Amino acid sequence: MISTQKHSSEVNSSDVERAMNSPAGSYSPEKLLALISPAAEDYLEEMAQMARQLTVQRFGKTIRLYAPLYLSNYCINNCLYCGFNKENKYERRRLTIEQAIEEADIIAAEGFRDILLVSSEDREFISTDYLCELAGKLRGKFSSISVEVYQMTTEEYAKLFAAGIEGVTLYQETYDRNVYHKYHQAGPKADYDHRLGAADSIAQAGMREIGIGALLGLSDWRLETLALGEHAHYLMKRYWKSRVSFSFPRLRPAKNVDRTQFRFLSDKNLVQMIVALRLCFADAGMVLSTRERAELRDNLIEVGVTKVSAGSKTSPGGYSQTANAVDSTGSPQVEQFEIDDTRSPAEVAEMIRAHGFEPVWKDWDSAFVKR
Ligand code: SF4
Repeated sequence: MISTQKHSSEVNSSDVERAMNSPAGSYSPEKLLALISPAAEDYLEEMAQMARQLTVQRFGKTIRLYAPLYLSNYCINNCLYCGFNKENKYERRRLTIEQAIEEADIIAAEGFRDILLVSSEDREFISTDYLCELAGKLRGKFSSISVEVYQMTTEEYAKLFAAGIEGVTLYQETYDRNVYHKYHQAGPKADYDHRLGAADSIAQAGMREIGIGALLGLSDWRLETLALGEHAHYLMKRYWKSRVSFSFPRLRPAKNVDRTQFRFLSDKNLVQMIVALRLCFADAGMVLSTRERAELRDNLIEVGVTKVSAGSKTSPGGYSQTANAVDSTGSPQVEQFEIDDTRSPAEVAEMIRAHGFEPVWKDWDSAFVKR
């Protein structure tokens, strides 16, 4: 693991300028370190312009849109930052296939053709077979189906791929081993090294997209960025057929979660992180969720982000205006975390157009892939 705080504070303006003058989109750990250093903050505007140019060159003036569909909030883990952690006592919910389709129909009616199936670690109910069956039923409505669920084996990922799921997002949460153990004390997720191998399993199963990320707020953001860079570089070299995407989930308020324990990074540093990774990885997808507030999201699509969610609900049944949206007492379902950008998908698409980009609801068809 690269040590960062000490080194990043030693970076000077010549190091930053050298990094900025290196070929756009090329990676080295030293370059990334220079671009995320405190010294680089003075160059942020210039770096952001370079990142914008590079993103437009590689991705065109387009922003992809997707929606998450939460399937279950039963969980056997107790991650201390998450509203779904098993110690939280409230009425849990899991969607039957029929209920999930009902939710997906609402998402499809909003225009989405790219859907992310999300579940807590609820293997008993949200099994591989469940996900395969659901994917089979959604394939006619969505051109791109991905999952963000518990860690699986290569064989299980291969089954999902054969059923029409072509992307998997799975965050390491934090690359800082000590901090990882602090937040994941029990359950299958407590094994740091096992989790670190997940992206390999995903790639070996032939998945087209691998989403990686760190939960921003658990450890030092500079250390997380350097580790993300190394992880992405390794995956790109080794599994060149899969596309690697970065996500930037900053921790949000969640039920019974003590936020005072977190180490938040500022908006400015979030911009710096995105821009620095773009300048090191020209072809990486950059994903931003509705965790972030509207104004910031509007600005970030200008500096490297390629894909955003919109109109998201982060509880199972959250899209339905029917009984699915509440528990048996009539209370709203507990969310994994609170979202900030509450605009409708149409409003987000309009904002993207206003910035001179084309909102893309579909840029891929799973029928292109030979399984
Ligand atoms: S982060 Fe995931 S695994 Fe951990 S408690 Fe939340 S839903 Fe469960």
